[in-house]
Amino acid sequence: MSSSGAEQHATGPLGLLGGTFDPIHLGHLRLAEEARGALGLDRVRLIPAGQPPHRGEPGSTPDDRLHMARLAIAGNPHFEVDDGEVRSPRKSYTVLTLERLRAELGPTRPLVLILGADAFEGLPGWHRWQELFDLAHFAVANRPGYAPHGRRWPGTLSPALDQACRDRQISDPALLRTCSSGYVIPFDMTPLAISASLIRDLVRTGASSRYLLPDSVLDYIGLHHLYENHE
Ligand code: ATP
Repeated sequence: MSSSGAEQHATGPLGLLGGTFDPIHLGHLRLAEEARGALGLDRVRLIPAGQPPHRGEPGSTPDDRLHMARLAIAGNPHFEVDDGEVRSPRKSYTVLTLERLRAELGPTRPLVLILGADAFEGLPGWHRWQELFDLAHFAVANRPGYAPHGRRWPGTLSPALDQACRDRQISDPALLRTCSSGYVIPFDMTPLAISASLIRDLVRTGASSRYLLPDSVLDYIGLHHLYENHE
């Protein structure tokens, strides 16, 4: 855990970006950076999943993915990495992580879960998903190749999620500061058609993935021969 004592006394919205980060790439980093700017977040905490519940075994170990996340944010004072899910023996359910963060940060700090549109669309498949609205706000970014957010809601989401968003959707980020959880805010980020699967495929086939992810992460992948035999 890399939160400081000062952070426990901070009151502004804290962004949370969970993911498998297998590997972390510039799509993730721009998502965090643009969310921070557009939504007025104090900081963004990246939370690599240990055992992601919604997908097969990642192509690299939890420790490798944690290490790559740390390399990727090095030097950025507004980002931090949370190792709670990687260190936990349990599956990485977001609701458990948010309950842990609430215990750590208190009931009043606004927490903003940052997601790409693809992840948000899948929300009804998440463990105890409806309780997440009691624990955090949601900020949803566009992602190339996935249904657009915001302007076309409601109507493009599953009926259950559509219903959940109906009274929660806002467009003014200032509202995120007025309560600790419960709003859904769509925001626009620079569209980047980068995915971790694309990078794994490039590495496996021996093609270059340079400039899709930080050089430090690319060097780590090369040094540790990650993804070379990944299918
Ligand atoms: P994979 O290709 O292995 O499925 P991924 O690139 O989607 O991985 P994840 O770690 O699963 O990466 O994503 C973590 C979060 O980041 C999700 O909310 C996802 O929507 C978001 N995200 C990832 N890449 C982008 C991108 N290029 N633009 C916007 N959001 C993104």
